[in-house]
Amino acid sequence: MRKRLWLAAVAAVALGGVAIAQAWPPLWIKPSPPAKVGDNLYYVGSEGLAAWLVVTSDGLILIDGPMEQNVAGIEANIKALGFSLSDVKILLNTHTHFDHAAGFARLKADTGATLAASVGDKPLLEQGVYPGSEDVAWLRFKPVKVDTVLQDGDTVTLGGVTLTANITPGHTPGCTTWTFPVKIDGVVRKALLWCSTTVAGNRLAPRPQYPGIVADYRASLARLAAMQADVFLAPHAEQFDFDKKRAAMARGKPSPFVDPTELGRRFAASRADFEAELTRQQKAAP
Ligand SMILES: [Zn+2]
Repeated sequence: MRKRLWLAAVAAVALGGVAIAQAWPPLWIKPSPPAKVGDNLYYVGSEGLAAWLVVTSDGLILIDGPMEQNVAGIEANIKALGFSLSDVKILLNTHTHFDHAAGFARLKADTGATLAASVGDKPLLEQGVYPGSEDVAWLRFKPVKVDTVLQDGDTVTLGGVTLTANITPGHTPGCTTWTFPVKIDGVVRKALLWCSTTVAGNRLAPRPQYPGIVADYRASLARLAAMQADVFLAPHAEQFDFDKKRAAMARGKPSPFVDPTELGRRFAASRADFEAELTRQQKAAP
C-alpha cells in the first residue's frame, strides 16, 4: 500500500508534471523511537523514512534528512540518545529526493553541521528540485548549501570512523551508496547503506529523466551486485525489513541486521524490477 501510494504520486509527476494533492504514506510522517543497530549506529528516522546516526569519538554523522515533517522526530531521537544537536558535525545524503533531503536546510541550521554531498546531487540540493521535474511544485524543497563535494570513492572521516562514498547513479544523478564499519555484538562488520536503484517515478524511456539514466542504472546495479556487506541498510524502512529486524532485535542475539546474503538477494530483485519497468515504459511509448 505504501509503495503504491508513493508510486502513484510519483507516476503523476512522470506523466507530465500535473499538480496533484500529495498524500504521504502515513508511516513516512509517523515518528519512531530511536533503534540501536550497533555500538556506533542508530536508526533515528520515522517509521517509514530512514535517517542514520553514526556515533564517533569526535561527534555524530547524520545520514539523510527526510522531509521537513520528520525533522522534529529526528532531533527528538538524537536528544533521547543523550546527545545534543550540536554534537552532529557532518550531514550526508543517500540521494536528493525530497523524501530524503527536504529536511536538510532545517537540520543544518539547527545542528551547525556541514553538508557533504556528491558532485552529481549537489546542484539538486542547492536548487531544491527533482531532476527532470523542475516544474512540479510539491517536489520542491528548501535548498541547502553543500560544503564538501564528493567524488566516487571519496571518504568522510570523523573520530576515527571512515565512511566511503560509492557513487551509484540512476535513481538520482549522484546517488550515493555509503559503506562503513559498524560494531555489532563486539564484532566490526561492513555496513552498506544502499542509495536505491528502484525506478520509482523516474522516466527511463522515451524521454529519460536525465541523459544516460538507463546506462547509469545498469552500471550501478552491476557494481552493487559485485559488492559485499554484512549489514544491508536502505533509505526506506520496508526496503530492509526494519520492522521485522527491530522486533527480532528485542528478542536478543544474534543480530538480525547481520546477514551477508541479504545484499545479493536485494540487488537481484532490484535488477529484475528495473528491466521489467524499462520494458514496460518502452512498450508504453507512443
Ligand atoms: Zn528516492
